[in-house]
Amino acid sequence: MPSTFLAIGECMVEMAPTGEGTFAKGFAGDTLNTAWYVRKSLSQDWAVSYLTAVGNDQISEEMIAFLDGAGLATDHIQRLNDRTIGLYLIQLKEGERSFAYWRSQSAARCLADDAVALSTAMDTAGLIYFSGITLGILSPEGRQTFLSSLAAARQKGARAAFDPNLRSRLWEDAQTMRDCVTEAAGLCDFVMPSFEDEEAHFGDKIPSESADRYLAAGAKMIVVKNGPQEVIVASENDRRSFRPDPVRNVVDTTAAGDSFNAAFLAEYLVSGDVDASVAAGARLAGTVIQHRGALLECRELA
Ligand code: ADP
Repeated sequence: MPSTFLAIGECMVEMAPTGEGTFAKGFAGDTLNTAWYVRKSLSQDWAVSYLTAVGNDQISEEMIAFLDGAGLATDHIQRLNDRTIGLYLIQLKEGERSFAYWRSQSAARCLADDAVALSTAMDTAGLIYFSGITLGILSPEGRQTFLSSLAAARQKGARAAFDPNLRSRLWEDAQTMRDCVTEAAGLCDFVMPSFEDEEAHFGDKIPSESADRYLAAGAKMIVVKNGPQEVIVASENDRRSFRPDPVRNVVDTTAAGDSFNAAFLAEYLVSGDVDASVAAGARLAGTVIQHRGALLECRELA
């Protein structure tokens, strides 16, 4: 049986502007972006599965068909009768993008309500991937269910990877966010923060401080990304830094971190080689930021 890379989180409808008052409908979300690129990076020895909750309506069906089409397994997706999926709109004003969200009642907020379904999915995974957005959208009870299911799955042999992706407006307050993110990181084999977020919300002065803080919380390996600057990889007995190749023609940095995480993990799961994994992460992220949009097809990645 293939091992499973299980990504857990929220995928939303994306409405992206195509002209004066017209929009193109797509689907996007941080954990989905990572699952998308993991599927393109890992061999078929691995299944890549996406766990979320959706409604029972047409747009939810369309999203599942989209995930299927991307080669992602959808059998752990929960369907709720009284909810539907979240949506966001990208607005352009003088070249600057801003986002408006309709997600406060999205089905994905309930993805941890069924503890048995969640544990069943986690217990059969080889690697469980989630983010601070996955946790931020849950209720306080949902977060505790999520973290105890994660701890139990790790006892049974699953590994866990986490991008803190700190988004304070998803949380009731900043301290709750910091506490929950720290607790989650302590349960993980890989913690993959972006320094900009850590500096803003934890007050870290340099990337090594973020690594030290997550190591002290109990995480095994920390990979701190920092835009074009050095990536730090730290574990208990090893610390290295790598400078990504410069990219001159940056078009759109959406999904830089998500795609980096995907290629890093896909390489690490196969080779266990940190240098090769950072190189793979930086190479993919460097390509993604030279194109518009989060999700590139294989021909654009070639
Ligand atoms: P996030 O999308 O989470 O903010 P970062 O901006 O830290 O993530 O970038 C993630 C990775 O993308 C970096 O570690 C690097 O490999 C690559 N990257 C991002 N911006 C650039 C850039 N301007 N030049 C080269 N690589 C970049």
